[in-house]
Amino acid sequence: SPSGASDFIRDIVRADNAQGTYGGRVQTRFPPEPNGYLHIGHLKAITVDFGVAKDFEGTTVLRLDDTNPDAEDVEYVESIVDDIEWLGFHPVSVCHASDYFGELYEWAELLVSKGLAYVDDQDAETMSANRGSFGVPGVNSPDRDRTPKENLDLLRRMRAGEFPDGSRVLRAKIDMAHENMQMRDPVMYRIRHAHHHNTGDAWPIYPTYDWAHGQSDAIEGTTHSLCTLEFESHRPLYEWFLNQLPLASAPPKQREFARLELTHTITSKRRLRKLVEEGVVDGWDDPRMPTLRGLRRRGYPATALRAFCDAIGITKTNSRKAIEELESFVRRDLDRSSRRRMAVLHPLKLVLTNWPTDAEGNPVVEYFELANNPKDPADGTRQVAFSGELWIEAEDFAEVPPPKYFRLSPGREVRLRGAYFVTATDVIKDLDGRVVQVNATYDPQTRGGDSPDGRKVKSTMHWVSAPHAWDATVNLYDRLFATEVPGAETGEPLDDLNPASRETLRGAKLEAALADAEPGEVVQFERLGYFAADPDLPGLFHRTVGLRDEWAAVQKR
Ligand code: ATP
Ligand code: MG
Ligand code: MG
Repeated sequence: SPSGASDFIRDIVRADNAQGTYGGRVQTRFPPEPNGYLHIGHLKAITVDFGVAKDFEGTTVLRLDDTNPDAEDVEYVESIVDDIEWLGFHPVSVCHASDYFGELYEWAELLVSKGLAYVDDQDAETMSANRGSFGVPGVNSPDRDRTPKENLDLLRRMRAGEFPDGSRVLRAKIDMAHENMQMRDPVMYRIRHAHHHNTGDAWPIYPTYDWAHGQSDAIEGTTHSLCTLEFESHRPLYEWFLNQLPLASAPPKQREFARLELTHTITSKRRLRKLVEEGVVDGWDDPRMPTLRGLRRRGYPATALRAFCDAIGITKTNSRKAIEELESFVRRDLDRSSRRRMAVLHPLKLVLTNWPTDAEGNPVVEYFELANNPKDPADGTRQVAFSGELWIEAEDFAEVPPPKYFRLSPGREVRLRGAYFVTATDVIKDLDGRVVQVNATYDPQTRGGDSPDGRKVKSTMHWVSAPHAWDATVNLYDRLFATEVPGAETGEPLDDLNPASRETLRGAKLEAALADAEPGEVVQFERLGYFAADPDLPGLFHRTVGLRDEWAAVQKR
């Protein structure tokens, strides 16, 4: 393939192209159910569906798999369309399974007339009991031998809305003793008098996933219907339905690949919804959520997400990837693309007692020209104000330095990044004995951060000029789930929630240039990590990832 990627899915497409199965056409579809927001698992399916099509100059349809009116909503439809665009993929069209309800129904009547489907009056419990189990044949429904004429009449009355919810279903007539449970007369239609976000009140019956999916693929002209491994057992049914229908061209092919799961992460919409509904997180777009919305607000670049998925490739065995691997893609991407800025999260006042004043007695202000991004000189420089009153990180000062502590302490000289060498002289404490101010002297000879006499210091610290700083709120994040496999012990992921997954720091001190950060922009706070400006709330930043790469260590474990 042009992208150079090779895997069993691309091999199948290549073979079909060689044999002319679809006349050289390649079309895939991404079929989310609009009952929640897209998450990191969907990202995998999206990169497979769109990536494979693109490699063969094919197209991808976004199909909203909206066959269940109860859970679905236009809010989700809109977010799905938007999230896919954000990732940088462009569906050739946006369709709904519900667009095909008419055709599906006509095909259902066709199966009924051919004696291949029947209306069953058994209640859900009886039906389920009569299905048998693996190795134990099921029991035929007493309604299984209804004539096509009777079935057609009942189906039409189902469609006309004559019967209450749950009173009857339409089933395919296949084999109640089939070794594959999916083939034991699967349900095609359920009665459900419900308002649908796309079709309104037009339909009192709704098709099941199995009845809708392959037929929608065929109607849309999908050639390769790629899905996750749990649908493997549905494949014979997918093929059975298509084989009964008068299709104009070769039937689409369902092929399955492994799901993406990550450590410390859940990817079930039902469970993610629970986190939202129970107020564990602020919403679907909370930066701790593995939703595309959450990751985006957190500052994960779409390019990094795609690169991660491309790197892990397509396989046939389910496995859980380390979240640290994804983070290393994010970090590498941001290292290239993000601007450097200085910010102090836990501010401690540093006063330079020998800082000069001007003719009017006001403290002098100096400006240092610092690179926006040392990895990208084309990104230019910025002016950073410096004065005799600064904020430094509280943890960068120790009144009594522990062993191997090389940052500031009384009598110790350090470098203020890009500015001057300073030496701490004494401290001012509050009534509780806490250090509230460090006094220091600076060496005017070290302007720019180097000493003409070649004197070395063991530490370089970030700083913000106090009169020029502005206050912001910064959210630091830890894993939402404390364990690698949430719920592994109890079966309930919520039991493994990390109670300290978010720490909010108010009154962080930011350099002036950060006031110009674009909504959603990610910048590197020097020595602290990458931080995303909230897309909606000015003055709020989210830590995207820290600076240290933990992926190598995880691999060694
Ligand atoms: P959930 O269980 O979270 O509701 P789903 O599979 O029902 O997920 P859909 O919206 O119906 O969600 O899925 C759309 C597509 O995304 C399907 O083809 C599905 O296989 C795929 N998908 C969902 N989760 C993952 C995952 N973790 N890894 C890879 N693909 C996934
Ligand atoms: Mg689904
Ligand atoms: Mg689902």
